[in-house]
Amino acid sequence: MTAVSDVRTTIGALRREVCGLHAELTRYQLVVWTAGNVSARVPGQDLLVIKPSGVSYDDLTPENMVVCDLEGRVVDGEHAPSSDTEAQAYVYRHLPHVGGVVHTHSTYATAWAARAEPVPCVLTMGADEFGGEIPVGPFAVIGDDSIGRGIVETLRDSRSPAVLMQNHGVFSIGKDARSAVKAAVMCEDVARTVHVARQLGQPVPIPQDRVDQLFDRYQNVYGQPG
Ligand SMILES: [Zn+2]
Repeated sequence: MTAVSDVRTTIGALRREVCGLHAELTRYQLVVWTAGNVSARVPGQDLLVIKPSGVSYDDLTPENMVVCDLEGRVVDGEHAPSSDTEAQAYVYRHLPHVGGVVHTHSTYATAWAARAEPVPCVLTMGADEFGGEIPVGPFAVIGDDSIGRGIVETLRDSRSPAVLMQNHGVFSIGKDARSAVKAAVMCEDVARTVHVARQLGQPVPIPQDRVDQLFDRYQNVYGQPG
């Protein structure tokens, strides 16, 4: 009985967190209309919390977030879940360290995706956040598990927490939903700056050993308490 009420408390907190994080997608102008979404894994459970499908950003509430199992089936919610739920569920099934997933069609990152071109590592913030280039995943459409498989196959062997799915947009992952949102925001920022740099010439790559150094420092030292 205690365990059940603990799970309910956790899900209630995640409904509020996931709902609130959608405001970051609009704040940083990563989404239009009802596109884009944030989800979170329910720790210790085969469940996720995700945005409902087709509800405008202004109308999102903790109550209309949808709880699904890791096959994408609705467990609790009055709305249909985001159409990206199956892809995100696939990610949670196959990458156990992932606690949050975000999807956007943010403009500059998606422009790189349209060209199927990875964003090269030519900025220290790219090295810090992504540990190298931001990779491109395969072309895939909703309808089977090909989007989820493409995300997992691309990110499994990469240090990057974001993938540009070809001709589509960004999927980002994190240890929790907030980290995944941060990766989506930084992905767009890096994509935009490198795009601008390209307009006036060829950006200068950062040597691999410096990339490794920056990534290691940022991931292990920067921002840690104490
Ligand atoms: Zn999409």
